[in-house]
Amino acid sequence: MLYKKTVISSLILSALSFSSLAAESVLIKDVKIFDGTTNGLTSNMDVLVEGNTIKSIGENLDQQGVTSVIQGEGKTLTPGFIDAHVHLSLQLGFGEMMVADEYRFAIGQVEESEAMLMRGFTTARDMGGNTFSLKKAIDSDMVNGPRIYPSGGVLTQTGGHADYRMPNSLSKLHTNDPDPFVRGGHTEIVDGQSQVLTGAREQLRKGASQVKILVGGGAASPTDPLDVTQFLPEEVDVAVRAADNWNTYVAAHVYNNHGIRMALDNGVKSIEHANFISEENLDLLIEKDAWLSVQTLVYINTPAGVNESQKAKFAQAFDGLDNTFSLIKKKGYKKIAFGTDVIADHSLMARQNEEFTNRTKWFSNYEILRQATSGNAALLEMSGPRNPYEGKLGVVKEGALADLILVDGNPLEDLSVLTNPTDNFDMIMKNGTIYKNTTQD
Ligand SMILES: [Zn+2]
Repeated sequence: MLYKKTVISSLILSALSFSSLAAESVLIKDVKIFDGTTNGLTSNMDVLVEGNTIKSIGENLDQQGVTSVIQGEGKTLTPGFIDAHVHLSLQLGFGEMMVADEYRFAIGQVEESEAMLMRGFTTARDMGGNTFSLKKAIDSDMVNGPRIYPSGGVLTQTGGHADYRMPNSLSKLHTNDPDPFVRGGHTEIVDGQSQVLTGAREQLRKGASQVKILVGGGAASPTDPLDVTQFLPEEVDVAVRAADNWNTYVAAHVYNNHGIRMALDNGVKSIEHANFISEENLDLLIEKDAWLSVQTLVYINTPAGVNESQKAKFAQAFDGLDNTFSLIKKKGYKKIAFGTDVIADHSLMARQNEEFTNRTKWFSNYEILRQATSGNAALLEMSGPRNPYEGKLGVVKEGALADLILVDGNPLEDLSVLTNPTDNFDMIMKNGTIYKNTTQD
């Protein structure tokens, strides 16, 4: 059942006469709290949400004047989850995306956003695709969906990971006819410092909270093997300087070590995938205080509709995962993002929450939960003044934004409870608004 702010507002009006609290308040009674940073639950807690903020947390909080009460019945309250690598605008099938117009892309975005919020993801860092209008629609309550940290169009070189032109497309030297991804604002095919600079600035102009650049081959693309390096150091450098001028950072897609080193040497702060990272380069990443954003879902389950060459690349990338995660574990490095990176497969995206259980091979339940909450929130804070949302994310603490999930079960003991959000998430709140509530009054 979906609740919108208006539903709560009508309840509030009747309570206003005896309320000493601000207009909109929700008291969540008797919950065990996972606060996003502590390995353990605090029992018998009440949480008072006022407006979009967690006002107070304690035992037996005063119910008087509260406009809405939720009975937690001893269930677990967690921060809303954050996915650090999604593509909300690119969930149509591969074939369909090649022929879809912008309206079809938009309908897909809306469908995907609502589903993602219902899976408990209240925030998403979108790592490529035009989500600027979607974000506005979500932020103004026209569409239900997660908070979005948009990258906008990804910067790819000619023949790079996001150059989706057909083999028979005319060379860029002879035509400017854009492919559907360029036309929709999902990608920018740019070469040379000048075009890279313009491409980065165009995304920042539209409201990107970070810039995404593709500096090595990718699995989902048709023409670039995983070993290839994309862009020159000086092209990466200007992208980083453009972002730096806007007081934010660059995230780079790359699997191979040459590209990883080039990205780190030129100031990239978030390395996406890094499935083949060497120990030496991981040491460099740690020295640079950068983030490593590795995913499992999309490699354990190859997206539908890929051809044989793409399938082989997904398998190659999957083979690198164990080494990457094992190295991270060995180093004890904490700046590890939680993300899924599904593209072009709506039904695989529906299995987003399996990312939690996939990671148990390398991390403890607590480590995984921290990655998906306060850890990812720290990554998002790198956007500095380009952070679109004021307030603290990823924690259940007084003063933080009220993004909360009531879970029937204890995910610290058993993460699989998170893989069935339909049955196990009794309440989903984002920014103080309740989007799902199956608890009894
Ligand atoms: Zn991606």
